[in-house]
Amino acid sequence: MKALVTGGAGFIGSHLVDALILNGAEVFVIDNFSSGHSSNLNTAAALYQLDICDSQVKQLIKEIKPDVLFHLAAQADVGRSVRNPAEDARVNIDGTIHLLEACVEESVKNFIFSSTSAVYGNVEREIITEDELTSPSSFYGFSKLAAECYIKLFHKLFGLPYTILRYANVYGPRQLPKGDGGVVAVFLERLNSGEAILIQGDGEQTRDFIYVEDVVAANLAAAEYATNTAMHVSTGISISINSLLDTLTKIHGAPVETQLTDPRPGDIKHSCLSNKLANNLLGWQPVVPLVEGLEHAYRFSK
Ligand code: NAD
Repeated sequence: MKALVTGGAGFIGSHLVDALILNGAEVFVIDNFSSGHSSNLNTAAALYQLDICDSQVKQLIKEIKPDVLFHLAAQADVGRSVRNPAEDARVNIDGTIHLLEACVEESVKNFIFSSTSAVYGNVEREIITEDELTSPSSFYGFSKLAAECYIKLFHKLFGLPYTILRYANVYGPRQLPKGDGGVVAVFLERLNSGEAILIQGDGEQTRDFIYVEDVVAANLAAAEYATNTAMHVSTGISISINSLLDTLTKIHGAPVETQLTDPRPGDIKHSCLSNKLANNLLGWQPVVPLVEGLEHAYRFSK
């Protein structure tokens, strides 16, 4: 398989590139290193250091003729999207359209898009299924949802096959300590530096944490055939920020200082995604228990 991975030098993308190479795929990467690092990138992948909006990208896709395009490159920082919505839209909406046009021209067999639970916004439900109303509460959530809509219309109008994977909170080695999604990495950085751990709000907000290797496995399963639908990549298990910290503290083996800070404005209280659809359509399910995944992430952070 010829696979093109946008954002292949980032946290999730670099793990996906490793797995694709291990599976014998020929792998090409487009990344502008805005948040990714060359040190993440497998040397067996062919790297094109480009912005996904760059005019050279279409020519490149024409030359590579990938079977599958995994689109992970994104402005993935919620806070930055609120500070600079135009840049967020340029990368996440315009960049996606740019890739979609090239994929239609080259008859790419499967456009696999990394989306997010942020498309739902604040939902008062114990567990969210894919038919939930989408109502993003950040420009990031909105731009990813807009990208999803473009993908669906490119399928309807031009027949481009696709699969949309909406991830819960992904964690694991190579994650940078930033943003809401990066709470595990943020906590690990503070555990290692001995600084107090800041908990926004009362710490009783819950999230669905999924280990990066499980997310990679879902992408590999999605590469098998285009489902032409959107589905969750999640554990379906919610855990509070306080119990996440308890588990990390046990792994660390020493007491940690914590400080409660103001809740973030607009922060989502609870987020847990059902993974039944991905299980039915892709035969995929997560296999890495939280404690095991956190132990890997902890060891990597040392
Ligand atoms: P990341 O920031 O580590 O990776 C993004 C990669 O894209 C980086 O290597 C960056 O340099 C590259 N990139 C950004 N803008 C680019 C551009 N204009 N042109 C070319 N390359 C560009 O983020 P991640 O956590 O690995 O996220 C990967 C994808 O998964 C994103 O699409 C994100 O929205 C989605 N996602 C992540 C999470 C999570 O918890 N990490 C949750 C839901 C969805």
